[in-house]
Amino acid sequence: MAWLCSRTAFQICRRGFSCNAVKYGKREFADPLDHATGLEKRELLAAAAGNFDPYHMKALEIDRQSTKDSPNLVPSVFKSRIVGCICEEDSSHVNWMWLHDGQPRRCECGHWFKLIQKAPL
Ligand SMILES: [Zn+2]
Repeated sequence: MAWLCSRTAFQICRRGFSCNAVKYGKREFADPLDHATGLEKRELLAAAAGNFDPYHMKALEIDRQSTKDSPNLVPSVFKSRIVGCICEEDSSHVNWMWLHDGQPRRCECGHWFKLIQKAPL
């Protein structure tokens, strides 16, 4: 009997639930890609192609064994870029420095960084 009661309770709770957007006839919201222009459109196209970091703003994992000949490569569309190095994993401050094109730079902790040119979006 208890099994029947629980089965009945589950059947009552099993109602159709839909969280889809409501459509009114054939009217729908337009695709944002159709309305976007300029830089916004290029960002949406990059996201559609799978590039969710078109400006290279995500933090990079650095190579702990970097040297002047094999530095950590930092992408940039400009001739210079500010780079922040968290020198130790549990460090609470960021060591900021400028990187210039063609000039590898060594952080105070010993890691090397070098700017590489990327095509603008
Ligand atoms: Zn550092």
